Amino acid sequence: MSAMKGRLFNVLAAVSLAMSILAAVLLVRSFVVADHWQYVSRDRSVVRAVVVNRGRVFLTQFSGTHMWDDGQRGWRYEATPPERMTHENHASQFAFAVSFLGFTYLSEPSTGFHIAFVPLWVPASIAIPFAVLFVRRRRSQAGRCATCGYDLRATPNRCPECGTAAASASTVAAPR
Ligand SMILES: [Zn+2]
Repeated sequence: MSAMKGRLFNVLAAVSLAMSILAAVLLVRSFVVADHWQYVSRDRSVVRAVVVNRGRVFLTQFSGTHMWDDGQRGWRYEATPPERMTHENHASQFAFAVSFLGFTYLSEPSTGFHIAFVPLWVPASIAIPFAVLFVRRRRSQAGRCATCGYDLRATPNRCPECGTAAASASTVAAPR
């Protein structure tokens, strides 16, 4: 790995780690308190909401005529106890509905309703591949097998422990 690629990798790894930690904190928090942000446009034609609740981010947009009006305009924040959201149980009422591994998208164009659920485990686990690559890189730089960590000083071409071929002798000895 070249020095520039190495620096780029470090930046990406740091950003992904920060994202993972933030998502993990939100994930844990979302089972203690649900955070709601709700937006109502000036003419009440668009309502948006972002809710972090029970391990998922809930995004919704509703455009159309609303019967209710509590006077809210713009963004408003509210914290409530977390609750089970059962929107998926009503999937058949939407023209388009897809749900997979905690991801859900429901939409009803005739009423301007769009709902999406994004599970927080996805951003929370984004740093895992970087952590694996980081460990492999450190092992290679230390003259060890990237796969199992076996000392390759005596056998630089192939790991006698697990059979992994070394990337190249120059990579192993490359300065940082
Ligand atoms: Zn090995």
